[in-house]
Amino acid sequence: MRKNKILTFYNPKMALKEQIESNYSMSPNKPKLFMEYLKLNGFEENIEVFSDFEPFEKNDFLIGHSEKYVDAFFKGKKPLCENNGLKWTKQFTETVTYTNASLYNAIKSSIENPYQICFTPTSGFHHANPNSGSAFCTFSGQVISSVKIYRDTGLKGAYLDLDGHYGNSIEDSRNFVSDLNEAIPIGCNINPIYQHKSYLKDLEHRLEILQKQIINNNIHYLVHCKGADSHNLDDMRGQLTTKEWLKASEMVYCFVKETSLIIKKPLPLTISLFGGYRRKAYNKVLDLHLKDLELCHNILCG
Ligand SMILES: [Zn+2]
Repeated sequence: MRKNKILTFYNPKMALKEQIESNYSMSPNKPKLFMEYLKLNGFEENIEVFSDFEPFEKNDFLIGHSEKYVDAFFKGKKPLCENNGLKWTKQFTETVTYTNASLYNAIKSSIENPYQICFTPTSGFHHANPNSGSAFCTFSGQVISSVKIYRDTGLKGAYLDLDGHYGNSIEDSRNFVSDLNEAIPIGCNINPIYQHKSYLKDLEHRLEILQKQIINNNIHYLVHCKGADSHNLDDMRGQLTTKEWLKASEMVYCFVKETSLIIKKPLPLTISLFGGYRRKAYNKVLDLHLKDLELCHNILCG
């Protein structure tokens, strides 16, 4: 039986203190906005917050990035420090050291105690590449987290990237990081294609393949990256209606439940937020993320 509360890796230093008007993406503020939204909607009782984790240091970022890029970002050297499409500020650099560490610590904890589902209210990872940020993403948090875990434990992970956009950072890093193919095997950066019913069919097919890898002990943990920009009313025009978007979540959590029964132990699961850009109705983005967590809690917890 899984624990009733979702362990949430949140430290206020993960979010910008203020919204920066020139930032189209509100993701740098999202950790704070989402935690407030959880509280407002009474979901707080279903989570346990863990704040006491160390931020990433330069050496962590060097796992997935060139020194030239890491230095340019932390020193505010333009244009490279703003290739992510976000305004550079000193405080933003600090938030990034905490969001990447939140993802890493959530995954690590889900492996150490698979009875506890872990949640990281983060985004801004899956479009970065070794030499630059891109499309609201600064560093390749997935790459760095999984490689750190692989080097420490030998365990391998899979990412179910249900954001509306293809997560390129893992594939773009395969030549840069020597052991990335071990940490996240080929085919385990899972991005469903198509739209509506065909998307769900494609997801179903990919889950069947993933299940075989888990049963064969080739994959040891799962990260569900549940971007809200795969919703068709998002400013980015995603692939799914509300019903379909929630159906995809339900499929993932039922998959985790069923697979855990087959392998006779809980499959370590971490959930992350990723994209979502409804500038005129940002609460709709937060609400989708909340509904996703509610589904997780109903299907898997307690
Ligand atoms: Zn996206």
